[in-house]
Amino acid sequence: MMISRGSYAHSVPILLSKGVVKGWRPFGYVFLALFLGVLLFPDLVTANGNALWRGPTDNRVVALTFDDGPKSPFTQNLLVELRRLGVKATFFVVGSSVEKEPDLARQIADEGHVLANHSYSHSDFTRLSDDQIRDELRKTQALITQYARQTPVWFRPPGGNTDSRVQGVLTEAGLVTVMWTINAEDYTVRNQRFPIRNEPKDIKGQYVTDYAGDVVRRVVTAASPGSIVLMHNGGDATLAALPQIVAGLRERGFGFVTLAELVGGE
Ligand SMILES: [Zn+2]
Repeated sequence: MMISRGSYAHSVPILLSKGVVKGWRPFGYVFLALFLGVLLFPDLVTANGNALWRGPTDNRVVALTFDDGPKSPFTQNLLVELRRLGVKATFFVVGSSVEKEPDLARQIADEGHVLANHSYSHSDFTRLSDDQIRDELRKTQALITQYARQTPVWFRPPGGNTDSRVQGVLTEAGLVTVMWTINAEDYTVRNQRFPIRNEPKDIKGQYVTDYAGDVVRRVVTAASPGSIVLMHNGGDATLAALPQIVAGLRERGFGFVTLAELVGGE
């Protein structure tokens, strides 16, 4: 053991000094080019599976999407707010959460929203085997169909993590991957404070909009026809930002549609 470790340690400087390692440099450039390509054109990663990054329309409509539910009491509050605002949205729900709160999943559907598949366990699909992925998809499709009486046609990979292999399994399962045009970043913890109109307080009387204003600006300024907005069933900032996002976008002449309306036509 000692001998082999020692000889390995010596071999690296020798390889370097003899210029052998230099022969790998072109591979480094290729890798860097691929890395930058993925960074600048993330669509390429999912090109095989026809991932959707925006709706195919020139109309001034956007689709709000909420990931990671159903989750009490957040989802109930979100549903009340969406009803008050007269907005229909799309919920990418997690199978295990649907299993825990089947009535809440049903309520999302009853309110006129669209449910979509966001895996069963919220695992990184690029780390699962093909069979594990199929299992995650199948269980979640069955749960949503059973409790919400909708059979999803859209899937969003947990954490946005996907690759061509994962896309192959998704396509085979008949699901269309939907990513997003605008990431509201409503999960980001920030300390910046941007007071907004009618700023709400939580149960303890604390302002909850420490970074909601940031979320609002991000979405309202970036929206364009067919934008798909990524938000979450997660924090108070999402709820605080929502009325301002809706008001801001309506001022800019935008309407709100579900993915079914956005992709299925007008
Ligand atoms: Zn998620």
